[in-house]
Amino acid sequence: MNFPTQQLNNIDTPFYFYDADLLRTTLDNINEEAGKYDNFCVHYAVKANANPKLLRIIAKSGMGADCVSGGEVEAAVAAGFPANKIVFAGVAKADWEIELGLNLSIACFNVESLPELEVINELAGNLETKANVAFRINPEVGAHTHANITTGTAENKFGIAMRDMTKAIRIANEMPNVNFTGLHFHIGSQILEMDDFAALCQRVNELQDQLEAEGITLQSINVGGGLGVDYQDPDANPVPNFKDFFKTYADGLKLRDGQTLHFELGRSVVAQCGTLITRTLYIKQGVAKQFLIVDAGFTDLIRPALYDAYHKIENIMSNEAEEVYDVVGPICESTDVFGKARKVNKTKRGDLIALRSAGAYGEIMASGYNCRQLPKGWTSDEL
Ligand SMILES: *Cc1c(COP(=O)(O)O)cnc(C)c1O
Repeated sequence: MNFPTQQLNNIDTPFYFYDADLLRTTLDNINEEAGKYDNFCVHYAVKANANPKLLRIIAKSGMGADCVSGGEVEAAVAAGFPANKIVFAGVAKADWEIELGLNLSIACFNVESLPELEVINELAGNLETKANVAFRINPEVGAHTHANITTGTAENKFGIAMRDMTKAIRIANEMPNVNFTGLHFHIGSQILEMDDFAALCQRVNELQDQLEAEGITLQSINVGGGLGVDYQDPDANPVPNFKDFFKTYADGLKLRDGQTLHFELGRSVVAQCGTLITRTLYIKQGVAKQFLIVDAGFTDLIRPALYDAYHKIENIMSNEAEEVYDVVGPICESTDVFGKARKVNKTKRGDLIALRSAGAYGEIMASGYNCRQLPKGWTSDEL
């Protein structure tokens, strides 16, 4: 990525810098690849990054929104996503959040338990409306990714177990104020093996056969998100492999006539366009290593501390030979490390450091721990 270093150098650090052109290129590619197939509908998973400037660009591309809280539904509407393209998931929707969705007539509630279904039916009745609902089913398909971000295995707070699926659908079909539309799945995140998505297709095919044998048909199927990005080499793969992703579903999932297939992509849409820009405060020599101490901490980007996540680290102001550093932040916790033994161009106090591929689950997860200010986000359109 070619950073506008001069302009970035004038902004208070740390902050997020978003390459709006890369985001638009990514969105165009998604539209092109998903558009090859009839009935594919793509939603953006707002939880990956709800910066209003990015949301507006994404809404303009025509995508729908996948929300997991009332606040996200409000952010999506404010950014211009039409309510009839908003789906609402989440294990614990509060009454006000359900009522918000009902009042806006959102496209669908992705329901994760029977008690939740009862509450949606009751609240829809109070408002004299009918809620479209899909059931999130736990497909017991294990994805090859970090344990903390696997969501599709057997015992899990997310979703309804496969053995309870038919019962849940029958109960929904007897309720006056819900309209059962289909099934929803989401097997995890940062998945790079297309075989994992193919395994989900197999499972969906089995479940659909089973339901049809019982006289139940589905209007829609939602397979969630989860497509991973290249954190090691973002410049080699700035746009994720949407072609293979959508083709895997087109080849593997047996859609019935008129059925729509929905996707909820988060990380793959926004990760590569975002960079956390931070300034070098000190170079500290240890006994056997040297520390590159920056002004960003895990309050600004928690993924390395939380998931052991890798972000490529670059000095965007130095052309000197590489040296090896532990890159650390100022937070009073020993997990406040962005990378150990990283090769970075020789760095001095004041140099700007780029933590790459930070557009997803970065700014949105920032906290005020240590009374730190939340990082701001700037797009290339504004510079
Ligand atoms: C987090 C989430 C997504 C998006 O996942 P990515 O890995 O960021 O694509 C999609 N659907 C649901 C239900 C989610 O919870």
